[in-house]
Amino acid sequence: MNNYTDDQRLLLETVQKFMADEIYPHEEKVDKLGYVPEEIGKQIEKKSIEIGLFSANLPQEVGGGGLDYGSMVLLEREYGKTSHALHSWIARPTEILLACNDAQKEEYLYPCVKGEKRELFALTEPDAGSDIMSMKSNAVKDGNDWILNGSKHFISGPCLPDFAIVFAVTGEDDTPRGKRKRITAFLVDVGIEGFDIREGTKCISYKGYKNFQLSFNDVRLSEDKILGQEGNGLSLSGKWLGMGRIWVGATCCGKAERILDLALDWASSRKQFGKPIGSFQATGFKLADMKMNLRAADLLVRDAVTKAVDGIMEDQDAAIVKVFCSEMLNKVADDTVQIFGGMGLMEEMPIERLWRDSRLERIWDGTSEIQRHIITRSMLRPLGA
Ligand SMILES: Cc1cc2nc3c(=O)[nH]c(=O)nc-3n(C[C@H](O)[C@H](O)[C@H](O)COP(=O)(O)OP(=O)(O)OC[C@H]3O[C@@H](n4cnc5c(N)ncnc54)[C@H](O)[C@@H]3O)c2cc1C
Repeated sequence: MNNYTDDQRLLLETVQKFMADEIYPHEEKVDKLGYVPEEIGKQIEKKSIEIGLFSANLPQEVGGGGLDYGSMVLLEREYGKTSHALHSWIARPTEILLACNDAQKEEYLYPCVKGEKRELFALTEPDAGSDIMSMKSNAVKDGNDWILNGSKHFISGPCLPDFAIVFAVTGEDDTPRGKRKRITAFLVDVGIEGFDIREGTKCISYKGYKNFQLSFNDVRLSEDKILGQEGNGLSLSGKWLGMGRIWVGATCCGKAERILDLALDWASSRKQFGKPIGSFQATGFKLADMKMNLRAADLLVRDAVTKAVDGIMEDQDAAIVKVFCSEMLNKVADDTVQIFGGMGLMEEMPIERLWRDSRLERIWDGTSEIQRHIITRSMLRPLGA
């Protein structure tokens, strides 16, 4: 993993220094408090704007940093070493906002790029998680407007947003496979009549990262609040979800590397029976497996990024990365707790927090089971099954 260009090496040094100065010092406090104090979040936001990490994922034409996928993956891997509660203050606005028309760019995209506004991506509902097509949120045409009703939950972000990108059913299409819901993405401002947003239940992974419950009660939206075209919400989100899964893979690799370092440190310093515990094969082989699987995961991420750059990445590539990297991370975290013994479960050790944080990665952005379903489908569908 060291054939970086000079620019990438510089980027890596910059982000590592930023993490050491602005992020790591707050990890323990934020986890204990269960929230990110406003001044810490704002400080991360301000400093990341100053050094060009903010909105680095978006093209320069819209004011972003214009980093290519190969460079973004380096950043995401470093961010993965810490908590979402902290690194999400370094915004990477969702690329779905690039579908904004000119007026929407002024109102939503550019302010997000500059750190003046925050968005949420609202797809999941209480009764529609993995099965997103069972979505009940809907918008019905009323003159030139749309009337939105329904609810969303588990919609996450670092702080209360300014608006949400909300997916809702706006009709039904006939397809060769039968009837299919037509889903549209809307830009819905926080504060408008009928839109209620409140914090959801506390999550034990990434304490301090917020998740919100959204409810819409006859929310009136003008036609110009549609993002993209009416009915193309799923293709918009699908495009973004694919790369999102690659970023999850990269963050998992970063976190696993950090955990492996902790495991090595403990295995070489903790002595039992007069020897470092790493010298017992049962411990040493765990370390070897961690190293092998982390290497494999990094290579899978790199392979998928190469395909994405070449425009040939398929759903199954993203699914393979997501499931392999998140399960690799969970095994690394769990084995490291084992290597730490009783100390692995004590709050004063960072491994306990990293272990808790790791667990979410197998669930969000599509569970491991759903990723396996995507991989299976990609093999069987061409065979007519
Ligand atoms: C902290 C957090 C933040 C999140 N942030 C966001 C966000 O910002 N925006 C957003 O839209 N969503 C967000 N989510 C939602 C997340 O993507 C969903 O939780 C995830 O997709 C799983 O849905 P579910 O929780 O409803 O589980 P369910 O769909 O109810 O699944 C429960 C179990 O059943 C299994 N299962 C379901 N269907 C199948 C099947 N066909 N085959 C095999 N097994 C199956 C699942 O794999 C899982 O093990 C977030 C979730 C969390 C926890």
